[in-house]
Amino acid sequence: MIVDLHNHTVLCNHAEGEIDEYILKAIENGTKIFGFSDHAPMDFDPKYRMSFEQMDSYETDVLNAKKKYEKEIEILLGYEVDYLKGHMDKRALHVEVDYLIGSVHFLDGWGFDNPEFIGAWETQDIDAIWQKYFDTIEDMANSKLFDIVGHFDLIKVFKFMPKGDITKMAYKALEAIKKSDMVLELNVAGYRKKVAQPYPSLSLLKQAFKLNIPITFGSDAHKPEQVSMFNDEIIEMAKSVGYTKCAFFRKRKREFIEF
Ligand SMILES: [Zn+2]
Ligand SMILES: [Zn+2]
Repeated sequence: MIVDLHNHTVLCNHAEGEIDEYILKAIENGTKIFGFSDHAPMDFDPKYRMSFEQMDSYETDVLNAKKKYEKEIEILLGYEVDYLKGHMDKRALHVEVDYLIGSVHFLDGWGFDNPEFIGAWETQDIDAIWQKYFDTIEDMANSKLFDIVGHFDLIKVFKFMPKGDITKMAYKALEAIKKSDMVLELNVAGYRKKVAQPYPSLSLLKQAFKLNIPITFGSDAHKPEQVSMFNDEIIEMAKSVGYTKCAFFRKRKREFIEF
């Protein structure tokens, strides 16, 4: 991936490896612009994220690495922030970074992508869950708090698929993303999950292209060896739809590069 903006660090308590190892892997794979976007702190589900007190050392570590590797690769600083009403904190939303990824990992406090809570899928209407998920993404886009939409159809992670037409379910969310001028992330983590597909799926990416929504790329690496995995597949998918450029951000200002 020429641009890879979604990568984690050990501070989130569910990733491994040193910052340098992630960067060396990215350099080895020919990445030009590599961003860290670790899970931002919040008062909900604190064990899967850094604490507010750790923000400083996270930012210092990434900025030191930016200097250290400036001749080989451009390192960017970001956060992946949970869109969860009542728990978003201005210390994370107004932080000085290159970009913020907005992600929905919770529906009414239910961590739907966490294997610990997979049982709740069996007791609810799957179509209703999917619709609620995309409605939440739509709210997130309308909030205009973020630059990038993280893993747009993460709701498919365990392959509990709806009966209804997914493109229809997601359409208003895509329109809101366009209206808010956000960037859609092509995230390869889905290849590593039960669903075995990237986020978003091809049909949704085609819709996004029709709406002229820009894209970017993310390994969503939680280990150094996951950096740039499935690079060929995701680039091929983006090109097949018609995309030729991807976005990145410096100090929250969007720029594009050809891939
Ligand atoms: Zn994570
Ligand atoms: Zn995520």
